[in-house]
Amino acid sequence: MTSAESFCSTSFDYVIIGGGTAGLALAARLSEDPNIVVGVLEAGEHIHEMPEVSVPGMMGQALGNPKVDWAFSTVEQPAVLNRKIFSPRGKGVGGTSALNFLVYQRASEEDYNAVEALGNPKWNWKDTFLKYLMQVETYVPPTDPEIANDPHIGYTTDYHGTNGAVKASFSAWFNDHHAKFMDALLNMGVPINRDTGNGRNIGASVGPISVDPATMTRSHAATAYYTPNADRTNLILLTGAHVTKILLETPPGEPVVATGVEFSKDSQKFTVRPKLEIILSAGTFQTPQILELSGIGRTDVLTQHGIKTILDLPVGENLQDHLTLPFIHEISKDSATFDSLRDPAVLEQQLTLYKTEKKGLLAGSITAYGYLPSEKLFDSKDFLDLQKQILQDTTLTATPSLNKQSAILKKWLPDPNHAQIELLQFPFFLSFGPLPERQEGKVYHSIMIIGLHPLSRGSVHIKSADPFSSPEIDPRYFSNPADLEYMVSGVKFVRKLMRTEPYASAGCKMYDPPEKSAETNEDLSDDEIRDWCRTRVISIFHPIGTAAMMPKDDGGVVDSSLKVYGTKNLRVVDASIIPMEMSTHPQAAVYAIAEKASDIIKAARA
Ligand SMILES: Cc1cc2nc3c(=O)[nH]c(=O)nc-3n(C[C@H](O)[C@H](O)[C@H](O)COP(=O)(O)OP(=O)(O)OC[C@H]3O[C@@H](n4cnc5c(N)ncnc54)[C@H](O)[C@@H]3O)c2cc1C
Repeated sequence: MTSAESFCSTSFDYVIIGGGTAGLALAARLSEDPNIVVGVLEAGEHIHEMPEVSVPGMMGQALGNPKVDWAFSTVEQPAVLNRKIFSPRGKGVGGTSALNFLVYQRASEEDYNAVEALGNPKWNWKDTFLKYLMQVETYVPPTDPEIANDPHIGYTTDYHGTNGAVKASFSAWFNDHHAKFMDALLNMGVPINRDTGNGRNIGASVGPISVDPATMTRSHAATAYYTPNADRTNLILLTGAHVTKILLETPPGEPVVATGVEFSKDSQKFTVRPKLEIILSAGTFQTPQILELSGIGRTDVLTQHGIKTILDLPVGENLQDHLTLPFIHEISKDSATFDSLRDPAVLEQQLTLYKTEKKGLLAGSITAYGYLPSEKLFDSKDFLDLQKQILQDTTLTATPSLNKQSAILKKWLPDPNHAQIELLQFPFFLSFGPLPERQEGKVYHSIMIIGLHPLSRGSVHIKSADPFSSPEIDPRYFSNPADLEYMVSGVKFVRKLMRTEPYASAGCKMYDPPEKSAETNEDLSDDEIRDWCRTRVISIFHPIGTAAMMPKDDGGVVDSSLKVYGTKNLRVVDASIIPMEMSTHPQAAVYAIAEKASDIIKAARA
């Protein structure tokens, strides 16, 4: 095991801050060249055996566990009844890829093209994302005939990788409402999309998951990128190393030089000085924190905490996130759900099945999705009213970047091929968030309703100069009222879905929100649905954008080579550089960004 002393005395070419999703992918790629020495500093530990991390059917159970989760919270959010919203982030080798819900999907082509349109040449679907998304994955279609013959699954070899580090496969357990959900969507006019990996993430689909089907365990940054390369002598990972600051020098008339990284391990302070570059991969909340602690950020924020500004950049601004609502419904008592695992007898039986045959609930995950454009969510009058409101909206005009983002979002609003709301069939009752009481003896499913293109923008900043205090996370959820209206449209859609065959006759009973208003005993009014949304809404944990890759004059923090503006050798490679939310879950894009970053960095050296 590496000690902090020997780490600091190593002659590194690159030091990466954060051994998470992007950090480990980048480290693996850069250290392919045996002449290049790469160091990774990770605040958390390397936890090798933790079923809540590795076993697919236990995903979500590690949330809040301080061994693997920073377990942040937002500040009070005025537009959601002043609630503080839980904001987990992975801690330890693998970062958030070890903690996430395993959804391994791609957005639509236009989402990636928007990254280029926001001022980043070649960062589009064709030249960058498709290539690197394929490079990241080994896509494994199902072989179990029961699953392979599912009429909703398809596979186009042109769009999938066969040799990448991350295994993308399919759940080995399909819950008994999976097909009903898909067919009810079809009956509501949502077409089946058999392979959404082709740049068209729209319609009803069965999604891949980041699971290695050979072992039926989570495929994440640690298992995919670190463990197979851990014996490289030129790749050195130090865990329990909390980075407190990047040391910067300011040669007159020249770009700022990042000369070293200060970190704390076992309460002792250390400094490491790489020869070439420092790369920040500490994620959407902590990359801005480290930049600000080092003197890169908004001067007013830094001054407030007694930190001298070295570079005045809008670090921590442009925070965006995906919100979700768990639409909980009761299903028949004989249905198996992930909640069945709470019964010790069921757990034991499922453990045996999992260990011996890699089957059953513990080999299962989320399977079914609906990606819905506006036309499926609103009747035409309601849509025209909302569209008018959004088109006249001036909240997104504060900076040139927001103007550009707003123009793109407005273009997508009426597009029948661009999803605004995602539905995700979750075969369990969530275990976090403001939930109604679970009634004994009842069995529940949830349909998660996710808003894909929020118009609200927030920020994350240090709340103290103490590097060990949590950052102040203020996503300003629902500060733009259109975000709430989209969620309301999603709730109304799911209420119709519950009343559509084959769901309708499957014995489902709406539980939360209830079928009828307690006051009127009629269907819920729009205002009652709005109130329910404010009470129940939570994050689905896709924060991005806080060290955005955009032109400097537009409010960018890094340029399109991921270099922090005004620096010679400091880059950011993680989810914080994504300038605008995409219509999907982000992990695949984060890996793709890291793979591309390694090519950029290698080319810069050549
Ligand atoms: C509960 C949950 C479920 C999710 N589900 C999905 C899903 O199903 N599908 C999907 O696509 N996406 C999902 N996501 C989002 C996705 O996993 C993340 O967007 C992605 O993993 C972020 O990668 P990253 O490299 O930016 O950051 P991370 O993977 O978080 O890496 C950052 C690393 O930096 C380390 N670090 C931070 N500060 C310091 C410091 N000061 N010193 C040293 N190290 C530090 C952290 O410990 C961490 O290891 C989910 C997220 C969560 C939280």
